[in-house]
Amino acid sequence: MAKSIIQDYEEEPWCYVCGSTDWLHSHHCIEGSGRRVMSEKYGLKLLLCMEHHTGKYGVHNGNHELARELQELAQRKFEETHTREEFRKEFGLSFL
Ligand SMILES: [Zn+2]
Ligand SMILES: [Zn+2]
Repeated sequence: MAKSIIQDYEEEPWCYVCGSTDWLHSHHCIEGSGRRVMSEKYGLKLLLCMEHHTGKYGVHNGNHELARELQELAQRKFEETHTREEFRKEFGLSFL
């Protein structure tokens, strides 16, 4: 498994949004159509508590604003070491 390039949680896991340490899930920022594999490959993932992952305010439960924010964040991180063209090539789209 690749290391996250977005969040440092090796020593102490915490929710990227609220800091909670309960019920943490690994969230791949860019998903769908084979993109999850790419997110894993490049470490575009972070930890979310249940609430912010699949719960009431979750990215997988209609919180599109947060989902989008994390997608843009992931792309910005990717672009610190790659070009936008490379992002488009790997993920097939651009959020920025
Ligand atoms: Zn949270
Ligand atoms: Zn997720």
